Amino acid sequence: MSMQATLVIIKPDAIQRKQMGLVLSRLEQLDLHLVGAKMVRVGRELAEEHYRDLRQKPFFRELVQQLCGELHDVDAVLALVYAGSDAAAKVRQVTGATNPDNADPSTIRGSLGRVRSNGWIENVIHASFNDAEAQREIPLWFE
Ligand code: UDP
Ligand code: MG
Repeated sequence: MSMQATLVIIKPDAIQRKQMGLVLSRLEQLDLHLVGAKMVRVGRELAEEHYRDLRQKPFFRELVQQLCGELHDVDAVLALVYAGSDAAAKVRQVTGATNPDNADPSTIRGSLGRVRSNGWIENVIHASFNDAEAQREIPLWFE
């Protein structure tokens, strides 16, 4: 149990499908405080830095394109910071598994995400995995 802040990004697939309000409603039910929120136009540099740990993966190029909104005709994503005890764990719990097909239907990804027939994972949000990841990520998105 510790006081934390964690990063959430509502991804382009969710912006395109107009799921922003649904996602915010789910997150609002957590016992956390919303302490930052802004629309961000994501450039290559930010997307590559955000996902730097995945740069060796075969899907990295596409992942960067996706976060930049290029695959969904979207100009900006919504970046959020939630603070409170066990913030990252609480958000990850309601986020669900990375692949929406494997995510519990009660979770954000399980209820709103999908895997496209071309293989793209459209999983609605990014959520920091833990406190250490949140501490690296938040300064990338908020000065
Ligand atoms: N991703 C993907 N294919 C995979 C694994 C991951 O397209 O096989 C994408 C997906 O958008 C995921 C992101 O890469 O959200 C980051 O991957 P990570 O393993 O960190 O999953 P997350 O923390 O988002 O659950
Ligand atoms: Mg991750």
